[in-house]
Amino acid sequence: MKKVCVLGNGQLGRMLKQAGEPLGIDVYPVGSDIEPNSLDYKDAVITAEIERWPDTPFTRTLANHDAFINRAIFPIIADRLTQKQLLSDLKLPTANWEPLNHQSDWSRLFVKLGERLIIKRRVGGYDGRGQWRVNSDTITQVPSDAYQSAIVEQAINFDGELSLIGARNRHGEMVFYPLTHNLQQDGILKMSVAFSQSNTVLQSKAESMLSMIMAKLDYIGVMAMECFLVGDQLLINELAPRVHNSGHWTQNGASISQFELHLRAILDLALPTPAVFAPSVMVNLIGTPYNAAWLNQSLVHLHWYNKEVRPARKVGHLNLTHLDSQKINACLSDLKDILPDDYSLAIQWAKEVLQ
Ligand code: ATP
Ligand code: MG
Ligand code: MG
Repeated sequence: MKKVCVLGNGQLGRMLKQAGEPLGIDVYPVGSDIEPNSLDYKDAVITAEIERWPDTPFTRTLANHDAFINRAIFPIIADRLTQKQLLSDLKLPTANWEPLNHQSDWSRLFVKLGERLIIKRRVGGYDGRGQWRVNSDTITQVPSDAYQSAIVEQAINFDGELSLIGARNRHGEMVFYPLTHNLQQDGILKMSVAFSQSNTVLQSKAESMLSMIMAKLDYIGVMAMECFLVGDQLLINELAPRVHNSGHWTQNGASISQFELHLRAILDLALPTPAVFAPSVMVNLIGTPYNAAWLNQSLVHLHWYNKEVRPARKVGHLNLTHLDSQKINACLSDLKDILPDDYSLAIQWAKEVLQ
């Protein structure tokens, strides 16, 4: 039986574990609650489900172990400064940016990057946390501890957001899913739509960008690349060295889910391109109490994370997939009545993308 230890024990670790079961792979997510001697990691492959896992003596041991795949790569991607530098080194397009050093930098930053800026903490931010949107009248919103620990980005007027999820193995073989269309609200992914085939020009552009990144880093496993679409150009927003929320539709909409694909890549198992037969929609459940009425819908695959429900917290997702996108549309209409009111815009968006 192959064994995998995962740094972090959130929903991504949980879904990696679920994906391992049918393949005979034992996956152990490791959070702060695990007893160091309760897990024999000697023959295990070590991976991570998050860029910042709980820091304990045991997670430190795992994170420094030779069997931690991508050990040297995590710090580069987990820090927005070094991640942006990597993109610059590769001459890959991204929102213009600068490090945020001193209060006296603002006038230069507005001249260089434009009137609307997004300040992002270098490390630890997710779901839009650790970010501030400012113009020259609102810079006082930026806390003093952001100086020297944040970057400043030009706000992009994008036409849409897309992500590409791919995987690479130790032999340099790479496979990709079709691009996913994403709708973010308040800095959190609300919904995704994917098709069996994406626009071929954009798809090959995105694949060549992510290929360059994974090859340069000698990366192994699943990586996600979030992009802004501006006209027919793709600008990279950020990278995630792990399975990604915008790939959750692959659990039910692809022959190999992103979770299984990651396990295959890190364990050096076969890595064929996943087959995608039909359109899919993923509805993120954010701060939403469990509602058994979701299960009345025959197309709904419910993935509930068993976490305490709190505002703005991801607590589960629904995957819908069907060859006939009208059937997905009809299901979305039905879901409108059994999801909170703030889902109606996202449902409208998904229906338009599906057209
Ligand atoms: P995640 O949970 O995806 O890790 P995050 O907290 O790391 O999120 P980002 O992906 O950097 O945050 O930003 C969240 C969202 O904010 C983006 O998906 C996009 O909608 C918006 N955003 C971020 N940067 C920019 C930008 N430069 N211009 C316009 N919108 C932006
Ligand atoms: Mg992020
Ligand atoms: Mg993001």
